[in-house]
Amino acid sequence: MHALVIGGGVAGPATAVALRSIGVDVTVCEARPAEDKDAGLWVMVAPNGLAALDVLGLEETVLRESLAGAVGPSGFAPMRRAGLYRLLREAAAARGARIEHDRKLIAAETTADGVVARFADGSALAGDLLVGCDGIHSRTRSIIDPAAPTARYVPLLNLGGFASGVEAPGEAAQLQFVRSPKGFFGYAGSGAGEVWWFANLPWGAEPSRAELAAMDRAWLTERLLDTFAEAPGYVADVIRATYTDLYALPTHDLGGVPTWSRDDMVILGDAAHATTPTSGQGSSMAIEDAVVLAKCLRDLPRRQALARYEELRRERVEGIVALGARASAAKLNDAAPDGGLDWVLDYRIDWAARV
Ligand SMILES: Cc1cc2nc3c(=O)[nH]c(=O)nc-3n(C[C@H](O)[C@H](O)[C@H](O)COP(=O)(O)OP(=O)(O)OC[C@H]3O[C@@H](n4cnc5c(N)ncnc54)[C@H](O)[C@@H]3O)c2cc1C
Repeated sequence: MHALVIGGGVAGPATAVALRSIGVDVTVCEARPAEDKDAGLWVMVAPNGLAALDVLGLEETVLRESLAGAVGPSGFAPMRRAGLYRLLREAAAARGARIEHDRKLIAAETTADGVVARFADGSALAGDLLVGCDGIHSRTRSIIDPAAPTARYVPLLNLGGFASGVEAPGEAAQLQFVRSPKGFFGYAGSGAGEVWWFANLPWGAEPSRAELAAMDRAWLTERLLDTFAEAPGYVADVIRATYTDLYALPTHDLGGVPTWSRDDMVILGDAAHATTPTSGQGSSMAIEDAVVLAKCLRDLPRRQALARYEELRRERVEGIVALGARASAAKLNDAAPDGGLDWVLDYRIDWAARV
């Protein structure tokens, strides 16, 4: 079998590694160039996500590049997004997957033999299976179902960056939160002067691209310092010590996508379900999806496998999208987020068991 995996973020390369482990030939088609200077901020990989990486033999590799080179005391690993993407792509390539950049999917059709994917540069590729790992604004999702829902705006602006030469309280690699009356601040420190942080500011209407572009660094810094004026002084120190862009982004989520597969095409990761960043679960969900999809393809004929993958995943991921929506609303309403997250964090995939 030859799988065309669309998207080289988290879900795509994780799927490539998982499919290579069951002997599938894989081509990963990523829209962005190989030299990508805009790969974003950082993510926390949760214990369940690390366990799914372990099934793929990748947990140790990934941890080598986490902040402070380890998991924090609560079992989460802070990772630069660019670093996570790179490690997963390298792992996929090392296992024999082809990684092709500047390949932006625009259309696909199923044929008697499988699938043909068409790209923005006019090229096309044929395969037996098309796996859409192309993120929250997925093209594959709308190819599978032109009536599929699109992402929903959640009225929070995300910002963040990487700061150095500054200290903030807390154990190395442990996520810490600071609530202030006008916003929400989170960070993890290395214990050696490096602090990775994010901030969420309530933001009524979704900012347009032009509005985002107009938010320059000086303006955003001033706004952040004003938002956190009543917070402990180290918050302002961290903001001032930031050596990167501030990555202002609107928040989105996506649940209730009714159709995850059609013929030999399927979606996973944010393309199928996206939780707000507040849940800290998007990457981990994507990695879990990849492992479960590969298990299903290992044990069942292709189309049955796609249906079984959805059956095994839907309740869990929809639950986590709802959890993320509640957690984001709690930030806006100054309420307490859900407790009792064992069902999210303790989830483990038994690779040896048949689906
Ligand atoms: C600000 C922010 C903070 C977050 N924090 C966390 C966190 O702490 N923990 C966590 O687990 N998750 C977090 N997330 C969510 C996490 O980033 C996503 O859930 C995760 O990246 C999903 O992986 P994915 O591969 O499905 O999508 P993506 O990582 O978005 O990757 C999709 C890839 O597909 C490519 N692509 C898109 N369209 C096409 C096309 N037409 N053709 C070819 N390629 C295409 C894109 O260029 C991209 O490389 C955060 C998200 C945001 C925005």
